[in-house]
Amino acid sequence: MGSIEKACISGFLCRLCSEMHRTVIHIYGDHGQRLCLVEKINGYLPITISPTDPLPKTICKTCLYRVEQHYTLLMRLTRMREERKLKLLGYKSQRDTVT
Ligand SMILES: [Zn+2]
Repeated sequence: MGSIEKACISGFLCRLCSEMHRTVIHIYGDHGQRLCLVEKINGYLPITISPTDPLPKTICKTCLYRVEQHYTLLMRLTRMREERKLKLLGYKSQRDTVT
């Protein structure tokens, strides 16, 4: 175990809500990588995280939940859009083949 001073860290700063939290998820840690957090944040949120930037690489559980919700919603919308496009293409090719 480390010294008492070290044990008194009040927490980690969350990259997304900028608040201190005792329990955080390291974006580049095992857990974060398993959850594909880098892709979910960089790809679908208006922020970009890079391993070399000077900002925190941790997010709190509340923000993790929000990221997951946001990602799920976007995936659903994208899938619906794709399905609609395929359907439209289907109609179109059907119409085109009927000559
Ligand atoms: Zn947060």
